Amino acid sequence: MMSKPNLAGGCDPSATALECVRALKPYQPGKPISELEREYGVRDIIKLASNENPLGTSPAAVAAMRDELDGLWLYPDGGGFELRGALAARHGVTPDCVTLGNGSNDVLVLLCEAFLAPGREAVFSQYAFAVYPIATQAAGGTARIAPALPAGHAQALGHDLEAMAGLVGPDTRIVFIANPNNPTGNWVEADELKRFVESVPADTLVVVDEAYHEYAAPLGVPDASEWLGEFPNLVVTRTFSKAYGLAGIRVGYALSSPGVADIINRIRQPFNVNSLALAGAKAALDDTGFIERAVRENADGRDALTEGLAAMGFSVTPSAGNFLLADMGEPAAAWYEALLRRGVIVRPVANYGLPNHLRVTVGTAAQNRRLLEALEQGREHDAATR
Ligand SMILES: *Cc1c(COP(=O)(O)O)cnc(C)c1O
Repeated sequence: MMSKPNLAGGCDPSATALECVRALKPYQPGKPISELEREYGVRDIIKLASNENPLGTSPAAVAAMRDELDGLWLYPDGGGFELRGALAARHGVTPDCVTLGNGSNDVLVLLCEAFLAPGREAVFSQYAFAVYPIATQAAGGTARIAPALPAGHAQALGHDLEAMAGLVGPDTRIVFIANPNNPTGNWVEADELKRFVESVPADTLVVVDEAYHEYAAPLGVPDASEWLGEFPNLVVTRTFSKAYGLAGIRVGYALSSPGVADIINRIRQPFNVNSLALAGAKAALDDTGFIERAVRENADGRDALTEGLAAMGFSVTPSAGNFLLADMGEPAAAWYEALLRRGVIVRPVANYGLPNHLRVTVGTAAQNRRLLEALEQGREHDAATR
């Protein structure tokens, strides 16, 4: 007779998972609207927690995806021919430089799987995007984390490229730079970034994550894809989740030398980007009017929200993205709860080592006002109960 597994006796199979995986702290996503409804019974909820586009999705992209519904019994084009071609044309590279991902998260993970292992290192900054430490550790690699720029610096909490360069050694295989960074909003300038890429050994990948590029470009934040021809070790990642308003369909991409793209291509799932995503992203790319409006309204909202938060006495980190990092001046958990009770979901960032901060996505003008009102009500309420 087969014996039953005895968990108390130490036969829990989860204990046999890789140590680097067992030690992982999972990614903490923003609270979904449906969950807040279930847990708190609140209605009329706004979510400013995941840097989604408050304008929604380009109607042209929605129409393209609807047209695609009739063909869902077929596998998608695993090579992503049309979308890769359009992206290559957009960036002035050949299609063999473009790798599509199930969100840019997918290509970040694939890079770690292909280039990291025990004994190999990834360098990134304190407060850098949470996926870098998770993907590094899951691949068995070692994270080397540079302290962020100090208080008083114009980009306090941001990437200290000199400190990062100091951590690059013979075992460093990947350097991650989010420009601008999430959750801090900080950015690095073109000349500084280019000097950094030049300083890194030619066999070490520099991954510049430009998830918020559309929002950041008007502030002079560089498009590192323009340097791909100069640096075969440069990888630039982009996403359709943020300004393009397609977070739910999961599509992003990496731009790199054809050699690096060929490597990633060997380990990606053959159909990692679904047919709706391929069609939606292609149409979204062509709808430049939608992006222009999203960028314009975000800049206005970011200014209004910065001003409103500052007027309430909360200091805000300068941001090139569609979100702001606010210092609440005390543990932010009570503020987070106070906002949830008023139907406003924002993002606590204690998991980043920032327990006094909240990250808020720039919403529509009406949503931004609602956030400021909810904060005002929270403050008037007894601070102990918020
Ligand atoms: C949101 C985000 C991403 C990835 O999002 P996907 O939806 O997986 O494309 C990557 N990097 C940063 C810095 C982000 O904020």
